[in-house]
Amino acid sequence: MDYVKLINCMRCGMCLPTCPTYRETFLETASPRGRVALMRKIQEGELDQSEQLLEYLSLCLDCQACATACPCGVNAGELVAEFTCERKAGNRLGMMEDLVLRKLLPHPDRLETAMVPMRLYQRLGLQKLVRTLGVLKMFPKPLGRMEGLLPDLPDQPLRRVIQEDMPGRGEARGTIGFFLGCVMSLIFSEASRASMDLLTALGYRVVTPKNQVCCGAPHMLSGDKAGLKEAARKNVDIFGGLDLDFIVTDCGGCGAELKKYGLHLGDDSSIAFSSKVRDISQVLALHKDELKALLKPVSLKATFHDSCHIAHSQGIRREPRDLVRLIPGLEFVEMENADACCGSAGTYNIGKPEMADLILNRKLEAIRATGADVVVTGNPGCLLQLKKGLADHLPRVKTLHLTELLARSMDA
Ligand code: SF4
Ligand code: SF4
Repeated sequence: MDYVKLINCMRCGMCLPTCPTYRETFLETASPRGRVALMRKIQEGELDQSEQLLEYLSLCLDCQACATACPCGVNAGELVAEFTCERKAGNRLGMMEDLVLRKLLPHPDRLETAMVPMRLYQRLGLQKLVRTLGVLKMFPKPLGRMEGLLPDLPDQPLRRVIQEDMPGRGEARGTIGFFLGCVMSLIFSEASRASMDLLTALGYRVVTPKNQVCCGAPHMLSGDKAGLKEAARKNVDIFGGLDLDFIVTDCGGCGAELKKYGLHLGDDSSIAFSSKVRDISQVLALHKDELKALLKPVSLKATFHDSCHIAHSQGIRREPRDLVRLIPGLEFVEMENADACCGSAGTYNIGKPEMADLILNRKLEAIRATGADVVVTGNPGCLLQLKKGLADHLPRVKTLHLTELLARSMDA
């Protein structure tokens, strides 16, 4: 890790109020400033990597709210992620990590096959039975958490059924390479279908290569940088062979990682790849007038939750709000701390359930205070977390991906 990045912290504390774990604990060790200080002391050889110390660091969600607040450009979340990668470098992956990160995620076919039992579990009514009887209480807690987060799955993963090359309608605007995230394809396929519909309706040809692989974000989260680089190389080579104006994704987590491929791989092709990556909201916002002409009234009160990967990692806040406001008949209301993490953070809500629930509860309170009927967001992790939280505590309020809401207005 670059020592200079650690000593840039001048300990001003401006990051403290933005950090979700500090807000819940008021512990310096659970703050961005404290985490940077701990990593610095380890590098300076004044602290050993004790279990307790690693536990403090692992409580970080990598939400990067601290980076937005820091006047010195310190990104504590990213530094903790780098620290984890360095610590794990050279270690053999655990059996479960090896299965998920190496045997499943780089192979979309296998990943899709692995989801078939989950789909049967839902279709055969077993999920309802298991939930009614509370059977999962007899199993390890993380299993119950994972099951609780599982929404209704689509009949088929979108990657299996989507047309690989979709022509644009009306005036031609260019060609988009669509990066279809694993979770979007497997779980939120309606949202990605809506994204493609919107892009083609605006005149873009949309090419979705079916051999693309996971963006590598789960590898980075687990400290598997070698796996991340392998995924990045494959995607750069696949999309690099196409003549594209943009590479678009509707998954905030994927977008944040794809934009870093140039940094991870450091060659011309990966830098060119990253320079073309856009969140779907960025491309749709280029065509507000044309989009507005396609939208029909929707009578809803909506609020917007900023995904950390979109607001803090990519700096995108205005575009999604502008797009929601285009919908005639829709009342838009801001929630307090819209860019505060919801507690999802990859698998954080499974690995650190107590802290994740505290963070989620704050978010639910902010949503409740708006009186909105629907929470709109742009990242599948947030959708999973909010869906579960709202179903348990505020069932009147629904969640929608930004493009689902826009497509709903377009098709109204
Ligand atoms: S990380 Fe940045 S904002 Fe936080 S204490 Fe250090 S310099 Fe200040
Ligand atoms: S990334 Fe988020 S949780 Fe981690 S130190 Fe920064 S604000 Fe806190």
